[in-house]
Amino acid sequence: MVTSAAKPPKTQHGSSVSSIVYPDDHPADTEPGELRVSVPRKVAILGSTGSIGKSALEVVKSHAGSLELSCISCHRQLDLFEQQCREYRPRIAVVTDECNPKTHRWLSQSSPESWHRAAGEEALIQAITGPEVDVVVAAIVGVAGLRSSLAAVEHGKRLALANKESLVVAGELLLAAAKKSCAEIIPVDSEHCAIFQALESVELVDRIILTASGGPLRDWPLEQLEKATIADALAHPTWSMGRKITVDSATMMNKALEVIEAHWLFGIPAEQIQVVIHPQSIIHSMVEYRDGSVIAQLSPPDMKLPIQYALTYPTRTQATAKRMDWNSPQALTWYPVDPQRYPALELGFEVARRRGTCGAVLNAANEAAVELFLQSKIRLTDIAKACRSVLHHHNFASNPSLEELLEQDLWARQEVMRWNNSLC
Ligand code: NDP
Ligand code: MG
Repeated sequence: MVTSAAKPPKTQHGSSVSSIVYPDDHPADTEPGELRVSVPRKVAILGSTGSIGKSALEVVKSHAGSLELSCISCHRQLDLFEQQCREYRPRIAVVTDECNPKTHRWLSQSSPESWHRAAGEEALIQAITGPEVDVVVAAIVGVAGLRSSLAAVEHGKRLALANKESLVVAGELLLAAAKKSCAEIIPVDSEHCAIFQALESVELVDRIILTASGGPLRDWPLEQLEKATIADALAHPTWSMGRKITVDSATMMNKALEVIEAHWLFGIPAEQIQVVIHPQSIIHSMVEYRDGSVIAQLSPPDMKLPIQYALTYPTRTQATAKRMDWNSPQALTWYPVDPQRYPALELGFEVARRRGTCGAVLNAANEAAVELFLQSKIRLTDIAKACRSVLHHHNFASNPSLEELLEQDLWARQEVMRWNNSLC
């Protein structure tokens, strides 16, 4: 066991949904502030073939001795996954897409090293909930990451959370499960990692300020936006990320999801969350206190830093991530968001206010609409329109179960298809 020196910031909910704060009601064998992890910390990386997953593998490799790779998962990129298995040698490697015939061929291969092959979501959940894992890096994209995030916190694992969709869809359930098991949720999303570092006490906060790059289309004339191609939307100016989150950045749905994520993680009401455009992506977010002081976290845009922070917290270790160059001139600018350019953003504030089933519906509608855009079936500007329409027509419930959330998810996807067919 490792005893943590510092406690995470206190959240405001104080109710059943306190998140990254250590809950007061600890199990008998755990003292407040005590992490139930071994040395080296045993790490599972879910979605190792993705952008965050690859960076997480590098971080674990650069911390040999204090971090140890226990489990990795992928969905479809089997060739890359096989290479990762041979290079990084996890204890267990899981391909989640068990219906794919290629997965069966992959499973039947022999492993020259001592790692074990498995397939399917159940196998993944079994792997990450056992004693061989202390920390789960949730880097699967979309609601597909929800069950594994929930399973990790239900079993008291530290959740290094990149998969913001888990919180957007089921924030209340995830936080309640974390409270019950004393699991920690440490944000990997760079904005939330910044706030986590800058937040002393939620009671003293006036507002938190999430920064947004504005995406690749931030300087386009408004009337041109509906002509944006897939390549235009994927040409992000400061971050290199997976396709779905890159499209979300172009529409600013990503920031809408992050408003909801911040609301759940830090227990801050929507009214105390503000978004500003900061094109350089150096200030990752800020906390403004009652007295007017603003505390920000700065670093060059590189996800390895927040991943490392979530894995090694509360210790700060040497990083391989890029550093600020204080000898080169650098201007930092920001300006308000134009709601006409980014109509998706307001939906995030609405969902953070209404909660209940709204997050599941918005997230599913967005996932379906982004997929249609990436198949050239709708325009980029249709994404926010489809999401608004589906969100406003759904059958709202204030206290949904997981099953109800997943039903709403399915309904919202079908509605987006219906909405699209009605346009044709
Ligand atoms: P990528 O698209 O690059 O990677 C997604 C990963 O998820 C891949 O390993 C993929 O496997 C796996 N995956 C896809 N579908 C499924 C499924 N149905 N079941 C299980 N696994 C699946 O995404 P990113 O790495 O960019 O993003 C991952 C998460 O992190 C997202 O939630 C995103 O919002 C969040 N995030 C990302 C940031 C970034 O800089 N990229 C920054 C902050 C948050 P395979 O490729 O083998 O099919
Ligand atoms: Mg982010």
